[in-house]
Amino acid sequence: MQEECLFCKIINGEIPADFIYKNDRLVIFKDIYPAAPVHLLIVPRKHIRSINDIKEEDKNIIFEVIMAAKNAAQKMSISEFGYKLNFNVEKGGGQMIFHLHLHLLGGWK
Ligand code: 5GP
Ligand code: ZN
Repeated sequence: MQEECLFCKIINGEIPADFIYKNDRLVIFKDIYPAAPVHLLIVPRKHIRSINDIKEEDKNIIFEVIMAAKNAAQKMSISEFGYKLNFNVEKGGGQMIFHLHLHLLGGWK
């Protein structure tokens, strides 16, 4: 946990969020400023700054984040039409919260 990290605070329950899934290794909650009809954030509990910082030892959690996104898309009934999965990496890539997360965007008609 990084003390000043917003997503660590959400994971620890210090700041509320609209969670749709939790397990021991990751959480999924709704983005507060949705950029699509369905906009979820899949967030590992481990504080990793960005994709630039992942290590070999993180391969299982990255795989789980992607699987969780796939399962959430199915649960939200947006799989068949299609959706976007997006990792923003560092400021130039549009990252604003420096705790690794995967955006799931979809639900367009
Ligand atoms: P980034 O730009 O870092 O890839 O994405 C961060 C996302 O977090 C943005 O889409 C933003 O709308 C979302 N966000 C920022 N603050 C909060 C918050 O307090 N709660 C929730 N649920 N989402 C947030
Ligand atoms: Zn964090």
